[in-house]
Amino acid sequence: MHRFLLHRALLPDGWHDDVLVAVDAQGRITAVTPAAPEAGAERIAGIVLPGLPNLHSHAFQRAMAGLAEAAGPGADSFWTWRETMYRFAGRLTPADIEAIAAQLYAEMLQAGYTAVAEFHYVHHQPDGRPYDDPAELSWRVLAAAEAAGIGLTHLPVLYRHGGFGGREPQPRQRRFLHDSDAYARLLDKLVPAFAGRADRRLGIAPHSLRAVSPDLLRAALAAIDGIDAAAPVHIHIAEQIAEVEECLGATGRRPVDWLLDQGVVNDRWCLVHATHLTAGETARLAASGAVAGLCPTTEANLGDGLFPAVEFLAAGGRIGIGSDSHVSVDAAEELRLLEYGQRLTRRGRSLLADGPGRSTGRRLFDAACRGGAQALGLQCGAIAAGCRADFVRLDDEAATLAGAGGDAVLDAWIFAGQPVSPIRDVWAGGRHVVENGRHVRAGEFAARYRQTLRRLAEQ
Ligand code: ZN
Repeated sequence: MHRFLLHRALLPDGWHDDVLVAVDAQGRITAVTPAAPEAGAERIAGIVLPGLPNLHSHAFQRAMAGLAEAAGPGADSFWTWRETMYRFAGRLTPADIEAIAAQLYAEMLQAGYTAVAEFHYVHHQPDGRPYDDPAELSWRVLAAAEAAGIGLTHLPVLYRHGGFGGREPQPRQRRFLHDSDAYARLLDKLVPAFAGRADRRLGIAPHSLRAVSPDLLRAALAAIDGIDAAAPVHIHIAEQIAEVEECLGATGRRPVDWLLDQGVVNDRWCLVHATHLTAGETARLAASGAVAGLCPTTEANLGDGLFPAVEFLAAGGRIGIGSDSHVSVDAAEELRLLEYGQRLTRRGRSLLADGPGRSTGRRLFDAACRGGAQALGLQCGAIAAGCRADFVRLDDEAATLAGAGGDAVLDAWIFAGQPVSPIRDVWAGGRHVVENGRHVRAGEFAARYRQTLRRLAEQ
């Protein structure tokens, strides 16, 4: 048992001073008592926020951020970016994937993300044959998360088809592919690594409606239900107009309508992107209890379009944020861009605030904590008994936070963009993993990462 005394902290019911937090050996909070100064506890000065869950990550893509920005011949688009990504993914070794993920997860912790849902789809050798251990690349991701100290919801991806109607996959997709039996075996193999762990959860990720047939979707759900009937289920959906049109052509229904028609979507689901929604789909998705997994910087980078956040939140919809392709690893930037996208198209301000006089930053931060924790299926995202002890300490001496109190701190953190983040320290599961702005193993991870990227650049 360890005790922390938080000088000023954001609890589920608002801001409190001198918050005594008891944490057990598993890194879980057992009690939270405001206004309880105690001499023997480890004191955390400044302003403490709960760690944010990052609900969508493809770790290896961090290493190609910035490498797909020179327009090729013809129009550059999501689909040409995907070709670059396939070429890049085709060359990575298991050690590369671990090195990239460790660096990324350390960067996430430095940015205030203390848990991540890894949508993990590179499974096999470059020629498509499984590794001797078919879970090899999952183990690499788990090892990276363990080394960095970040909470992990691991979502092995089921990928089988190259398009709607059961189209055969392309050769470049061969590292991703499973049939339903091989996929179920992969899940079974992973189960023991999650038993009794407060900081890990195993879920599934049927890649998308274009990559997984209706039968396969049902098989994947049956496989995970046999392991954990409440496990998270994540899927990419309605990210691009072309995908919506192909779905309409193949099924007569738009993707979100089609998925909701199956009668399986509930609060264990995270629909990643869900960018292109009709008013009817927006209301249906909000009523389903599922989380819309928004990745604003990636969606901007890929030219996806804009999620109808104002309508979705007004309908009681749940959202969380992810850094997805990792063109940015900065929670404040994701939240800012989420709001700014709405401002630019609607020509208004404070559009996602919870009513007149209410803080936009607080609404966004609370929604992302709650929705993110739900999507990850982990007890996290709040400084509360039962949750993982994930604390993000902002430096109250930072110039951008000077004079800010209460929710204005969140508005300043999110909307006063700054070259140096005010995040000074981070504890994940009660462990002090970021000290003075830097992950405790940053030097070691960065050295391996640089070596990996230089080698890949020479190939
Ligand atoms: Zn994605």
